[in-house]
Amino acid sequence: MRTCWLNGSFVPEDEAHVSIFDRGLLFGDGVYEVAAVFQGRLLDADRHLVRLERSLRELAMPSPYTAAAWLEVMQALATQNRIDEGLVYLQVTRGAAERDFAFPAAIKPTAFAYARSKRLSDDPAAAGLTVHVVPDIRWGRCDIKSTAMLAQVLAKQAAREAGAAEALMHEDGVVTEGGSSNIWIAQDGALHTRPLSSDILAGITRDVVIEVARELNIPVVERAFTVDQAIAADECFLTSATSFVLPITRIDAAVVGNGAPGPITQRIRDGYLARAARLTGDSAALSRSA
Ligand code: PMP
Repeated sequence: MRTCWLNGSFVPEDEAHVSIFDRGLLFGDGVYEVAAVFQGRLLDADRHLVRLERSLRELAMPSPYTAAAWLEVMQALATQNRIDEGLVYLQVTRGAAERDFAFPAAIKPTAFAYARSKRLSDDPAAAGLTVHVVPDIRWGRCDIKSTAMLAQVLAKQAAREAGAAEALMHEDGVVTEGGSSNIWIAQDGALHTRPLSSDILAGITRDVVIEVARELNIPVVERAFTVDQAIAADECFLTSATSFVLPITRIDAAVVGNGAPGPITQRIRDGYLARAARLTGDSAALSRSA
């Protein structure tokens, strides 16, 4: 049985229970992070923990654990559950209290985490995936990684019903982001992605891909683009911590490029994988020598 972690203790998953009065359950009053596990090691977890701190701060929630404590818990979950490729999910809610919209006084945060396996280096979607276009009906603070995600639940369900792997969300025809990913196009040799604002999540993978592109001398333009421009682009792809870089080869019925993963997308994915292998390989070597 899987080992999870709840409020400071490692517990079997069937003993990991939270209160029905937890505000994460009542209001979606919580934040979360997802970091990849690659070669059995955490990937860029430090960056995810910086974003966690920011999400907590924006919602005036106290931070219950230091980044060092989280790293230890996250790596232990990956190791104890024998995750070679996969992810660690963690969540912090404002805690449990009698139901009242405003913050209750003297409330203790609820924190939990678990790990699971997922194919990353040989993700079948690396052959190309379809996205389904939906209006972005979310709130005005999409920069906060909140667990209140009903809009994405509906968007991704609509995508599934349309036979697509991901939702492509737009506002008045301008792409915001994917249901749980950032969206990119390649046009005339340059990458385009929407600039950071409260309209999108500042993806950790987005940041890393900007660095990878720089190393490969591929220009990056942080500028919004329309759904029509994505359809007409040379290439289109998405990024997220547990997808890495995946080619979008169809936008609903429209084929992007020639319908196969494009060469720039492939270079970025390969560059991303090489960096991941380097980072997790190094940390594994470090821990063996410790
Ligand atoms: N946008 C949204 C709405 C997301 O949910 C995610 C995944 N958490 C991303 C972008 C990608 O962020 P990251 O690269 O940090 O996983």
